[in-house]
Amino acid sequence: MNMSFKNFPMVSKVVFGRGSFTQLGEIISPMRLNERAPFIFLVDDVFEKNTTLLAKIPLLYDDQIIFISTEEEPKTSQVDSLVENIVLGSSILPSGIIGIGGGSLLDLAKAVALMLTNNGSSHEYQGWDFIENKGIYHVGIPTISGTGAEVSRTAILTGPTLKLGINSDFSPFDQVILDPELTEGVSKEQWFYTGMNCYIHCIESLTGEYLNSFSKPYGDTALSLCKEVFLDDTLSKEESQDKLMMASWHGGMSIAYSQVGVTHALSYGLSFLLGTKHGIGNCIVFDHLEAFYPEGVKLFKQMKAKHNISLPQGICANLSDKEFDIMIDISLSLEPLWKNALGKDLKTKTTRSRLKELYSKL
Ligand code: NAD
Repeated sequence: MNMSFKNFPMVSKVVFGRGSFTQLGEIISPMRLNERAPFIFLVDDVFEKNTTLLAKIPLLYDDQIIFISTEEEPKTSQVDSLVENIVLGSSILPSGIIGIGGGSLLDLAKAVALMLTNNGSSHEYQGWDFIENKGIYHVGIPTISGTGAEVSRTAILTGPTLKLGINSDFSPFDQVILDPELTEGVSKEQWFYTGMNCYIHCIESLTGEYLNSFSKPYGDTALSLCKEVFLDDTLSKEESQDKLMMASWHGGMSIAYSQVGVTHALSYGLSFLLGTKHGIGNCIVFDHLEAFYPEGVKLFKQMKAKHNISLPQGICANLSDKEFDIMIDISLSLEPLWKNALGKDLKTKTTRSRLKELYSKL
């Protein structure tokens, strides 16, 4: 079989619009298998006291809300225990999993939906195309914009040995609801970090070796939306929320058919060793990558200054050689990311000493 051209699965259905979250009940009701098969809502616990949002979750029969802390990014052990509890709590499979939150909740929802129909532990499925069975119906509802997790074919998890996604044709959501009103309440810092995830996706995709005519228009659109949101003073709050949500979607689509680059290769190591979260971790790394992305970093620094964002410094200052080695091993294992950024210079530019030098700057 000639699989050199990716046959890429996409989100089956998407709704966009301010207030569209209120349609959730109508949207999922035809997907209910029967009265005993509940919908399970995985909801970021930042909404635990948000009665306006909670009142809009259309609970019926045995449907259940499980609040999830995003103190730490999703783990394979967390997915396994959620799946175990769901299986023990009901004699039949749920009708669906609905993730409401940022990238963390979207990835958890995808992973739980997949692991309800695949045996073993979720860490056995980290990597590419190990999932054998279609997951159960799953819906993603982002409440912060930037990761592109709402559109991607991966559910990124930290496992015992790696931070790596469950990449599969069954990972993308069956349904996404894009309601920019849900992003109300995000702090300025988190808005910036997660929003910059999208900006960095654009720069890495648009400057990468894997760029092609499918990815480029998505990357160009997302980049121009990011510039408007983060540099233009004329947008209303609503316009800015709407545009960032669509930037995230397009940034995710751009990456789908290309690849990320050096920022992600380094920040996965940071996240695994130090637990640095994806949004801020990418910003900390990207701030020092002028050598790889000169124009992109210059603009990033302008955006950072405009919004008075100060990033942590010296986070690797006290690490041992062994700890640097752990990060370097993780980073080097992400060869496609380096290849996308460096092409044929891959071997000469990704020496262990070069990576240690890069990590030491952070
Ligand atoms: P997140 O989901 O951890 O959310 C960030 C913070 O924002 C949390 O504290 C959360 O409680 C808060 N928050 C979310 N919505 C809010 C709202 N409306 N009001 C107030 N606070 C709100 O972070 P993120 O940056 O969205 O996602 C990061 C995760 O996404 C990481 O685990 C990363 O690995 C993953 N990721 C996945 C993909 C993918 O393609 N699957 C791509 C990029 C990143």
